[in-house]
Amino acid sequence: MPEPGELVFEAPKRGKPPVHLLDLDQAQRRQAVVDLGLPAFRADQVSRQWLTRLSDDVDEWSDVPADQRATIQGALLPTLLTPVRVIDCDAGATVKTVWKLHDGALVESVLMRYPGRVTVCISSQAGCGMNCPFCATGQAGLTRNLTTAEIVEQALAGARSLQRGEVAGGPGRVSNIVFMGMGEPLANYNAVVGAVHRLNDPQPGGLGIGARGITVSTVGLVPRMKQLADEKVPLTLAVSLHAPDDELRDTLVPVNTRWNVGEVLDAAWGYTDATGRRVSIEYALIKDINDQAWRADLLADLLVGHLVHVNLIPLNPTPGSKWTASRPEDERTFVRRLEARGIAVTVRDTRGREIDGACGQLAATTA
Ligand code: SAH
Repeated sequence: MPEPGELVFEAPKRGKPPVHLLDLDQAQRRQAVVDLGLPAFRADQVSRQWLTRLSDDVDEWSDVPADQRATIQGALLPTLLTPVRVIDCDAGATVKTVWKLHDGALVESVLMRYPGRVTVCISSQAGCGMNCPFCATGQAGLTRNLTTAEIVEQALAGARSLQRGEVAGGPGRVSNIVFMGMGEPLANYNAVVGAVHRLNDPQPGGLGIGARGITVSTVGLVPRMKQLADEKVPLTLAVSLHAPDDELRDTLVPVNTRWNVGEVLDAAWGYTDATGRRVSIEYALIKDINDQAWRADLLADLLVGHLVHVNLIPLNPTPGSKWTASRPEDERTFVRRLEARGIAVTVRDTRGREIDGACGQLAATTA
């Protein structure tokens, strides 16, 4: 168990899962196929099957000779995720899956269907090293980083089950991916950026989801935020602020002792300058902790005039936590104070609460 305030930036080293097609970009896939003694164009066919047709059953791949299918499956398509528990709510419109990885580590992903869009919330690490006291994932510490393929497969699993019509509402497509499951995405930078490219790359190399549809949420790892801006990685950045003042943020988001509110917001504005994309500020409303009207005003002072949107999240309950969501009247006041300063605000829904699938509740227990 992590000590209070302890931060873990380097994930423990464990045996890596076998290499998977999705770890590779299109050029690397062609090379891998050639290394197997097969023609390079097989890589394009396999990519089309896996990522465009969403077919994970090689027996259906009638454009590839049967013996070559087996070779490719054996070398490039190991099973990375095995579902150990699937649980839904909202009459089947919200589905949480607990996945077991090759080494037994557990992660969770959540599919949420809304009128006109489907969002899959995916994990980037098994556990998390950032130790935010109001988040269930942080309480058990960091087990390991996920690979690019382990991250992308969570999104693809959602896409396949939607295509097969397994989600209430009939067959559909994934429109949005949010890196808001377990883990701190920017603490697993290379694998996450690889996954973002795979999600964004045009078909057949990737899933072809636009940057606006891919959101990466961070506690505020400033050097990595700067790197995202420099590299113009195609995504929407969300920053977990949760407090406008360092005194409180030091306790809610312990990494604030390393990079404070001013530094995190400067990095966020650097990102908007570099990309022209609006940054999202996440703020979990915790009763009598960070929901005072004066804190709304202070938050507005920091944000006003910037390309920004505030996403308020009513605190979701986690085991053993003494905190709870704000009173409705305090939430309303908080919203109004921000809006009065011309700041765009939305209140995130609490989808999946009853299945421990909402923000901050992912702890990957099989119970
Ligand atoms: N590690 C990343 C992404 C994971 S969580 C990050 O912290 O940004 C996605 C969002 O849910 C974050 O804003 C996180 O602070 C928030 N969150 C965590 N626990 C929560 C809880 N109990 N209730 C509401 N939001 C929570």
